[in-house]
Amino acid sequence: MIKIQNFIGGEYQDPKNGRFLPVYNPATGEHYADCPDSDAMDVVQAIQAGSQAFKAWSKTPVAKRAQILNKIADLMDERAEELAAAETMDQGKPKWLSLKAEIPRAASNFRFFAAKILTEENKSSTMDDQAINYAIRQPIGVCGLISPWNLPLVLFTWKLAPCLAMGNTAVCKPSEVTPMTAYLMGNILNDAGLPKGVCNIIFGRGPEAGETLVSHPGVPLISFTGGTKTGLAIQNAAAPHYKKVSLELGGKNANIIFKDADIKKAVEISLRASFQNSGQICLCGSRLMVQQDIYEEFMTEFKKQASDLKVGDPTEDNTFMGPVVSKEHKEKIMAAIEQAKKENGKITLGGGEPQLSEKNKNGYFIEPTIIEDLTNCSELWQEEIFGPVVTVMPFKYPADAVKWANTSPYGLSCSIFTKDIKRAHKVAAEIEAGTVWVNTWMKRDLRVPFGGMKGSGVGREGGDNSLNFYSETKNICISLEK
Ligand code: NAD
Repeated sequence: MIKIQNFIGGEYQDPKNGRFLPVYNPATGEHYADCPDSDAMDVVQAIQAGSQAFKAWSKTPVAKRAQILNKIADLMDERAEELAAAETMDQGKPKWLSLKAEIPRAASNFRFFAAKILTEENKSSTMDDQAINYAIRQPIGVCGLISPWNLPLVLFTWKLAPCLAMGNTAVCKPSEVTPMTAYLMGNILNDAGLPKGVCNIIFGRGPEAGETLVSHPGVPLISFTGGTKTGLAIQNAAAPHYKKVSLELGGKNANIIFKDADIKKAVEISLRASFQNSGQICLCGSRLMVQQDIYEEFMTEFKKQASDLKVGDPTEDNTFMGPVVSKEHKEKIMAAIEQAKKENGKITLGGGEPQLSEKNKNGYFIEPTIIEDLTNCSELWQEEIFGPVVTVMPFKYPADAVKWANTSPYGLSCSIFTKDIKRAHKVAAEIEAGTVWVNTWMKRDLRVPFGGMKGSGVGREGGDNSLNFYSETKNICISLEK
């Protein structure tokens, strides 16, 4: 049994209350680790450590900060195999995907922001011969970084790298469901020479450890990625302290296939957009809309290829889809599939459990599931399921697709498949979402703004947006008058 510990002031330690939560391998149902169930005492100690370390780290030269961030990335590359195994063990995503995509992306978050701070220029403006203005970005203090279970290491580092790059210190609160990779990061941070207390990692439940972090007056900034309801609670708890808050929340993203699309390519990409990571990516294209003229042709191929996807042991190289993250989450998804039936949805693929080997028979697996014939106002069409379930609807006119895409409480992302560049521009401009992809999905450039509209979030991170968010911008105006 692995005992996970908090990482405070550069040291691993048990939670002060001695309480732990069980961590399960979703592919086998095995209880393989215990994770701290921390409370306010641990969080406050971590904030104090961050506050103490801030005095020196905020003054550490940019070149030194960048050097340490690059070293962290190098060590993550060296330990990629261990990190990928851990990511797969507690999250359930196929190990080849962890190794190919998640761990390299997590390491590149550090390299990217190291490069970014080394190449930053200040803006200045002159007011003829009266004055010169220049703006500087200054670190803010101890930042609270709260991340979810679906992309544990990618989202942990997506916040931590720019936070540290800008001279802040951090108290991270990763998901209690998937603590393993964040736990391993403590040693990597120490080995990279990150001064003690600059990054502290607290494990525990949201309503206890998370809430203490959000409502503590010594934490002026909260970056949160997680569910929309949790985001609202966080915004409310942070408001009385005038904290800087970034919320990256849920999505129910439209994936629109126009009749002139390259169907082969659209099917291939839509399969990934529907089922990658068992549909547990905020950016998944879980509302598929296909123009009537090609509906039959597209759906025949889409269903055929979806039924061929290999679901099972995530440690095997040919597995496309592993389990969903937990027993509770599986029950939630299965209940949503039942709800679809009540809403007269037709389950045209999957909807149950796949055939499993002896090793995985207690795991939390669900077949790739396709639901058709729902109406635009049904709960299933509107609400995030966050599992391997895609709802599909035909549309007649492009304007219908845009209207239905925008009739949603969310606004995170959208994919459009068309060969008509004018249509792509027009529809992309009309869609209410923070990211619109044309003929692709999940292409993520670290330089671009990332975030959602409506119930999908508040604020943007990525590139310069991250530098702005993790700093206070100050304008200095020097008079040139005699
Ligand atoms: P969640 O909201 O339950 O939990 C996220 C994190 O917040 C966890 O660390 C949790 O412990 C903590 N938390 C929970 N309640 C809290 C509270 N009251 N105060 C402070 N912290 C609290 O989300 P989840 O189930 O872990 O993740 C799935 C959700 O995340 C989905 O809705 C998904 O769409 C969303 N998500 C969004 C993005 C994005 O970039 N927009 C990316 C990934 C996931």
